[in-house]
Amino acid sequence: MSDKRDYYEVLGVSKNANESEIKKAYRKLALKYHPDKNPDNKEAENKFKEAAEAYEVLSNADKRSKYDRFGHAGLGGGGGFGGGMDMNDIFSNFGDIFGGGFGGSFGGSRGGGSRVVKGTNLRVKMKLTLEEIAEGVKKKIKVNKLVNADGVTFKNCGTCNGTGRVTRVAQTFLGAMQTQSTCPTCQGAGKMIDKKPSEADHNGLIRKEEVIEIEIPAGVEEGMQLSVSGKGNAGPFNGIAGDLIVVIEEVAHEFLRRDGENVHFDAYVNFVDAVLGESIEIPTITGKAKIKIEPGTQSGKMLRLKGKGLPILQRGHTGDMFVHINVWTPKKVSKEEKDILEKLKNSENFIPSPDGGEKGFFQRVKDMFHG
Ligand SMILES: [Zn+2]
Repeated sequence: MSDKRDYYEVLGVSKNANESEIKKAYRKLALKYHPDKNPDNKEAENKFKEAAEAYEVLSNADKRSKYDRFGHAGLGGGGGFGGGMDMNDIFSNFGDIFGGGFGGSFGGSRGGGSRVVKGTNLRVKMKLTLEEIAEGVKKKIKVNKLVNADGVTFKNCGTCNGTGRVTRVAQTFLGAMQTQSTCPTCQGAGKMIDKKPSEADHNGLIRKEEVIEIEIPAGVEEGMQLSVSGKGNAGPFNGIAGDLIVVIEEVAHEFLRRDGENVHFDAYVNFVDAVLGESIEIPTITGKAKIKIEPGTQSGKMLRLKGKGLPILQRGHTGDMFVHINVWTPKKVSKEEKDILEKLKNSENFIPSPDGGEKGFFQRVKDMFHG
């Protein structure tokens, strides 16, 4: 489903690698494939991005555990979802990994340090039936999102002179200390709106309806969030778009109950069928199926239909279906039915004997107290 390489493989670390091993491995790769060291080398750039993406996931405990359990699809980055990281994301993370000193050595060639502003994420809920979850599904959804308006022009931000950063000097007991922070006027973009159409907001964005096709992999669950990279709101100042977060909502099935990868069904059978045996039709996720009720079937019996459950996300394994047999007891009977039942009541075979004892079950219970 995904053509992405395994993140552990990308970084060359084991599945049990700790935080510092992961950081060290990424640092080494980032240095080796850094664009400043490999100008106009597309392959190096791809390796650089791949390593950054792997690091982004494996350095985050929550994302790492999702990845360990569900693979790329668990993150929404793989399997049909647009994934990949933008260079700006990568560089903006550099401070954490290399500290000020290292980041600075590449900072110069990044020109001014102004950053591209990322748009906000857009969240949508998606209702899916068990049938859709079982197969995986492509769905078109209409979203109302922020896009860049036509006719917007920019000028350099006056507060930071287009650098995106402001320097403050604070007096401390150690002397004057310089601190740099993101420009509060332009949020680091270095740019401001010069002219914009009246309907655009202060970021030069307008709302527009867009139809987006989303591919949902088989086996998703209620509450799971899948993110489609770059399909969220547009970034101000021609920045990069945010992500579209798809929150999965499961539509309850009329008859089937989901429990993880397994599915349960309560079947009610006629008392006569339970006695004499019969084939009955039941609903399954993939349509109707016939099951055989053996003669003498007791209420509470469970039948297991292997592989008739739901697939587990990205695991190539499918759960089972469990059919719980309930013998239906009529709630009202006609005079004629009553007469027939009364005749059967004391018939030998109708005396309960769950463990096959010679005396009836009720008689043995009585004996226990009076014998
Ligand atoms: Zn500014």
